[in-house]
Amino acid sequence: MAGMTGRNTPAIVVLGSAALDTARRIQAHVPGARIHGLASRVDAHSADIAYDDFGAHLRSLYVSGTPVIALCAAGIVIRALATCLADKGAEPPVLAVAQDGSAVVPLLGGMSGVNVLAREIAASLHIAPAITTSGELRFGQCLLAPPEGYALADIEQGKRFVSGLLAGETTRIEGHAPWLDDAPLPRAADARLAVHITPYGAGTATAALTPDDLVIHPRCVLAWLDDAGIEGDIAERVRVAMRERGLAPLALAALVAPVRQGSLEALTEAAHALGVPLRLCDARPFDAASSNGVALHVADTPVDALAIGRARGTLTVLGLGPGSADLLTPAARRALDEAQDVLGYETYVRMAGPFRDDQCVHMTDNREELQRARRAFELASEGRRVVVVSSGDPGVFAMAAAVLEALDTGRADHADWHAVKLAIVPGVSASLATSARAGAPLGHDFCVLSLSDNLKPWSVIEKRIAHAGEADLVMAFYNPLSKARPWQFDRAMEIVRQHRRAETPVVLGRDIGRPGERLSIVTLGALTSDLVDMRTMVIVGSSTTRTVGNWVYTPRWYA
Ligand code: SAH
Repeated sequence: MAGMTGRNTPAIVVLGSAALDTARRIQAHVPGARIHGLASRVDAHSADIAYDDFGAHLRSLYVSGTPVIALCAAGIVIRALATCLADKGAEPPVLAVAQDGSAVVPLLGGMSGVNVLAREIAASLHIAPAITTSGELRFGQCLLAPPEGYALADIEQGKRFVSGLLAGETTRIEGHAPWLDDAPLPRAADARLAVHITPYGAGTATAALTPDDLVIHPRCVLAWLDDAGIEGDIAERVRVAMRERGLAPLALAALVAPVRQGSLEALTEAAHALGVPLRLCDARPFDAASSNGVALHVADTPVDALAIGRARGTLTVLGLGPGSADLLTPAARRALDEAQDVLGYETYVRMAGPFRDDQCVHMTDNREELQRARRAFELASEGRRVVVVSSGDPGVFAMAAAVLEALDTGRADHADWHAVKLAIVPGVSASLATSARAGAPLGHDFCVLSLSDNLKPWSVIEKRIAHAGEADLVMAFYNPLSKARPWQFDRAMEIVRQHRRAETPVVLGRDIGRPGERLSIVTLGALTSDLVDMRTMVIVGSSTTRTVGNWVYTPRWYA
């Protein structure tokens, strides 16, 4: 669980503004940690993420494996998580920290490094952590949570081992475990129990292991796949090759392969199945005979996979939603957290922040869309994790189409762009956010239209509005008006009025989901262009759209 694949960044959960100061001090020391604030008590700008219900939020963080640093009484945390504590194997670290930063109590996640996190937080607050784990107190070092680059073979076996030591047994260390050098373990050269640091698995001739021993595997094996290896079930092929050599699956540090069109998806899946990173190299980075398409290299010490070749770059085009953090999807949030490079129009990039110091932010002008898309591919081709942000949904009058257009037009010159793992993450589009605020004006058939004639002739726009009017569709207008397009909105409404009664409800949403949000409901007859600007969404009803109280809706039935 620990190490490179467990990438959930910690959540610092606060219940009120009084805890913000301590939360920020912790955030500065815990890479990637985000402050989650109770929406009703913490100002939206002070927290990275807002939540409404403490118990429900804590449980959802816990089950998604997110480390939790809760700035409140331990009892509150325990009661909130009580219902989901059965599965001890999968628990993330959970800590309670006193609001004033005077105490840090690791509560859960002994196997996933809670004490390490407690020590980090305690160091940032200049206090001593309240470590309660008997094995760790006694031996100064948690034997069951080895450092990055090492993996514990079997937790149950580990627990038996620690109980043995606590009961007075001695131990010896077989292999190289530098982090245990100064640990006050009860050592004896002839001890019955041993700590084995070995890439080889139990039941192999290479390592003489007994069931009571503690086995820790250094991640020191590289598996290189040549052309013959990139076929069929790649993960299984690697497992078999390792088994034949007596190597434990957990000793694998990385899957290494050449860049080959068409095989990247299968390689990515195989690396995922094996729980290791995929690294791409033009040539095999070590000397070893290959059998059945797989060559294995066993190093003496853990291998830093990230120093080998390069990663398969990723390019994620994501939608931020209309603006507020609570309308940003968790998938988009995760992509932002994992990004190394963030590209987008300045306003949207600011909306997506704040970013960490290790993240590169590239702000551009709103009109340079194709150029931005090409730049994103270039960065991703170097193996970087790149995101391009749009407001709302990236596929609605936004960057997703520009990115695919760049890929399409760059086909001949940029074969490497196709090796990039491309993903589009949806967002809540302005028409949907506005519709929800007003009720359900999009409750029946509707269309979305952009009134911008920057990229399409005005005549096409007129024709589409006329057809939509005739088809009695609800119409959601994006880009209704700008300084450069002063008369178009009035002309568009003139066409709409040829097909709709003056009483037709019209929803105007301005800056929905952003500070200063404004929603108004008018009639088509009263609609004038001075009510509308570039930050407004205009939804014009169909012949059946109606109001009830302050709500607007379009019934599901049709006359
Ligand atoms: N991809 C975006 C749309 C980009 S076009 C989306 O899916 O929402 C930009 C237009 O969207 C603006 O001119 C405005 O009409 C509308 N818009 C974007 N964000 C908005 C918001 N928060 N409130 C109201 N309208 C918005």
